[in-house]
Amino acid sequence: MNKVQKVRGTRDLLPIEKMKFRFIEQSAYEKAQRYGFGEIETPIFEFSEVFHRSLGETSDAISKETYTFLDRGGESLTLRPEGTAGVARAFISEGMAQNLPLKFYYYGPMFRYERPQKGRYRQFYQLGVEALGFETPSADVEVLDLGWNLLKSLGFENRCILEINTLGDPESRKKYREQLVAFLLPLKNELSPDSQIRLDKNPLRILDSKDPSDQKLLEGAPQLEASLSTESKVFFEKVLKSLTDLGIPFKLNPKLVRGLDYYCHTVFEFTTTELGAQGALLSGGRYDSLIETLGGPKTPGVGWAAGVDRLAEMFQLPEETNRTLIAVLAADSAGEAEELKVLQKLRYAGFHAELILGGNFGKKMKKADKLKATHAIILGETELNQNLVSIKNLGSGEQQNLPLSQVIADLRGQR
Ligand code: AMP
Repeated sequence: MNKVQKVRGTRDLLPIEKMKFRFIEQSAYEKAQRYGFGEIETPIFEFSEVFHRSLGETSDAISKETYTFLDRGGESLTLRPEGTAGVARAFISEGMAQNLPLKFYYYGPMFRYERPQKGRYRQFYQLGVEALGFETPSADVEVLDLGWNLLKSLGFENRCILEINTLGDPESRKKYREQLVAFLLPLKNELSPDSQIRLDKNPLRILDSKDPSDQKLLEGAPQLEASLSTESKVFFEKVLKSLTDLGIPFKLNPKLVRGLDYYCHTVFEFTTTELGAQGALLSGGRYDSLIETLGGPKTPGVGWAAGVDRLAEMFQLPEETNRTLIAVLAADSAGEAEELKVLQKLRYAGFHAELILGGNFGKKMKKADKLKATHAIILGETELNQNLVSIKNLGSGEQQNLPLSQVIADLRGQR
């Protein structure tokens, strides 16, 4: 039999990696709470239509990347490729329109059939926020500030940059789309095959084509900025002014259009150069027509999602300080008879305690050192007969015989 393999593009998150994920998720959760975002968890799969309608048939996410299947009842279901559509669906189906405005935070796995490479997986993790019912640019800035706060707290302040652009309101976007198509149509045969398809279906996406010859052709293309309505310009200027006021550095990127159909006005991406080709860490924007497209009441929205796999790749876990790890080891068979009871007492008292097994006493002490235990509790017949245990501080080398209850009280005092 062939060795059992994991599916391409999936990962096993081993304890150290998983610890980073948990740390990042916890930091994001705490910050989201501080900004008033309540946690929501939507299902990992939805009716396929939820994603088709919200992301747009022509987005890469839908046209090539979804995991879609028929369930045993013949329903077409899709594993969620991102979080916003599910939150919007929940907003509609749970009848939350009466409670606007609303702010949500989420964390969980997403699934895209993309070509796997470093920083790009088929099952990956996103945490994100959505602010629903806020029309004004202040909401865009609030979610951006939350993203920046998180990235700074992870130590990325000087390792990533906010790239930002505006797509304008739907009319501005439509006007620009027409101009761009008029410009590119005569050049259609020179475009890359992907961009040729996009020209019919989603021409704005051609702007962020990675193909160098597409980029060359685009040099003389009309600029999106020139098609913006006055309102759209004012909206964007307010966003930029507030970012400046709040000291959040940014770089204008007129080519940033984002892959999904539902965006309007502000679109943004915090990017890094540290992860090779997959440099987007946290991306999002405003989506004022998404909920309506899904059949709900017209409700503006703005939010972002961050790729936890990528954040974890860049993140260094902080050194643990004030950590207490107690190694429990028996010096003889009387000690062995007590070790589980002592361990249980320590653990019930809230300590991280590990049983050291195997080899003679000297070997056990070496193992305790290797574990980086701060203390060793040594169980031997002589002390146990007097209801005592031997506690050794492995830092100072100091050793005392004390009742276990006293040891626990002393260790508690040191924490
Ligand atoms: P998107 O939903 O495409 O805007 O992506 C939001 C964030 O999720 C990006 O900024 C990335 O950090 C992350 N991301 C997107 N696709 C993947 C993937 N296939 N593997 C890992 N992270 C991803």
